[in-house]
Amino acid sequence: MGLIQELNFSDGNIRYDPNTKVHINLVCSKCGDITDYNNEKVKEVWQQIISGLKIKPKGQRIDLYYECEKCKRD
Ligand SMILES: [Zn+2]
Repeated sequence: MGLIQELNFSDGNIRYDPNTKVHINLVCSKCGDITDYNNEKVKEVWQQIISGLKIKPKGQRIDLYYECEKCKRD
């Protein structure tokens, strides 16, 4: 009989950090090309917004529409 130390943090501990996942999708309104844009400031502000809302987000999506370099040239 050994002594087993059980570490169980699964109860009530939701491992969910929306802060690490948030990024801006730069979407070309012409060709639909999507580029991920990561910005520390955005993550910071996003976290503040979520804290203020007092909700548990299931996900998020920030789209920014623009005209990409390819389409601008056409
Ligand atoms: Zn484009």
